[in-house]
Amino acid sequence: MQKIAIIGFGAAAIGFIERIKNENLEIHVFEKSKDIYSSSISGIRADGKLFVSTEMGGDMYINTELQKKLVDYYISHTDSNTVETGNSFTNEEYYKQFYAKGFQPITADFYHIGTDQLKDVLYSIFEDFKKHKNVHFHFNQEITKIERKKDLVVLSNGEKFDKVVVAVGRSGHKLVKQIISDYPEIVTDNTQVDLGIRYEVPNHVVDELNKEMYEFKIRYKSKTGYMVRTFCNNPSGYVVTENYGDFTTVNGHAKLRDKSKNTNFAILVTVKLTQPFNDPIGYGSYIAKMSNLLAGEGKVILQTYSRFKNSKRSKNLYRVFPTLEEDKFILGDVNLAFPRRIMESIIDFIEKLDEIVPGVANPDNLVYAPEIKFYSNALDNEKYNNLKFVGDCSGATRSIIYATAHGWLMAEEIIENK
Ligand SMILES: Cc1cc2nc3c(=O)[nH]c(=O)nc-3n(C[C@H](O)[C@H](O)[C@H](O)COP(=O)(O)OP(=O)(O)OC[C@H]3O[C@@H](n4cnc5c(N)ncnc54)[C@H](O)[C@@H]3O)c2cc1C
Repeated sequence: MQKIAIIGFGAAAIGFIERIKNENLEIHVFEKSKDIYSSSISGIRADGKLFVSTEMGGDMYINTELQKKLVDYYISHTDSNTVETGNSFTNEEYYKQFYAKGFQPITADFYHIGTDQLKDVLYSIFEDFKKHKNVHFHFNQEITKIERKKDLVVLSNGEKFDKVVVAVGRSGHKLVKQIISDYPEIVTDNTQVDLGIRYEVPNHVVDELNKEMYEFKIRYKSKTGYMVRTFCNNPSGYVVTENYGDFTTVNGHAKLRDKSKNTNFAILVTVKLTQPFNDPIGYGSYIAKMSNLLAGEGKVILQTYSRFKNSKRSKNLYRVFPTLEEDKFILGDVNLAFPRRIMESIIDFIEKLDEIVPGVANPDNLVYAPEIKFYSNALDNEKYNNLKFVGDCSGATRSIIYATAHGWLMAEEIIENK
């Protein structure tokens, strides 16, 4: 029986295992965390907003039929079968309003599981996989190297497989870096990083938008020429920090039951540089480290919007109170850490959005920085038959559903070529 290893147990691995579990193949899952719950933070462990769209989620085409099937799969693993739902820009009036101001509205259907329900979903999926005798889980197993040797692939723990599928997400960047240094020919593109802020406003400012579509996704070509986009809108949500080991960034999530008075969303500027630049992760990390240097280790910068716009340090807040815990931020000035072109792009975006959603540019709204989204290097899956990459680490996906679908499709390919 062919032995296949899948490295990492996240969204892509779930899609892969679900599709392949009934085949006559021996599957071994290696996950660096000690159990399913303590695995690295990602959307499959926090927030859990599933969306069906052909306009976002990754750089590959996934038909909506498969996307919907996978959404139903996750929902079927909730206890209550209850999720929050919404659509963005199905309302033509809204679409036209945003379009007229230069925004590119993105259409999608949303299904929000919520951080509090995700644990049960993961547990239920895991329990189901465990029932299959050919699927073996190995926790506490961080894979640090993968070596191709003739017909076999050898992992850093010495185990040998016919095929290895790497599904380590973004938190597995160290392993991917190691693989790339051994097999540089697999990289097809690496020039992009998204830099920006997490923005927090009182619910009532965006109430209408939240009711209409739960998550509004828009892109906007700012006056600097850079593309700016919203990401991960959290009505009545919370801002949180995210620890990458050597730096800390900001993020947001929402719970199904425990609600706050604020809405937060990311405003991200896509920086795409050209040759000889080849280190977007390095560039983003330096900016994050600079922000942490100013805020203090493990903390992020918080600033009111007017101060952010006018390059002045915030010393106090007014009507909007942060949902991020007090010991995780310092009142400061993001201008000391971010390049001017990024700042101008964000300000241009907020001012333009305020023309459609009055109050978005209120002086006391809150800006948290840094929020950074690293794009993984785009990796070539055609190069080797026994070393494959799925999900976010492949550079092809950026969402739970796309990553799950990528895993699913890879399993299908393997089954076909068995
Ligand atoms: C805080 C946060 C919130 C998000 N919210 C959403 C959302 O609401 N909706 C959405 O669609 N997307 C969201 N995303 C993005 C989404 O989580 C990812 O696109 C998706 O999970 C990618 O799936 P993946 O399987 O590639 O990686 P992951 O789901 O991240 O899984 C990778 C797994 O590999 C393990 N691993 C890493 N390195 C190693 C190693 N060397 N050896 C062994 N195991 C390793 C990790 O511990 C992890 O369990 C969010 C991301 C973050 C960070």
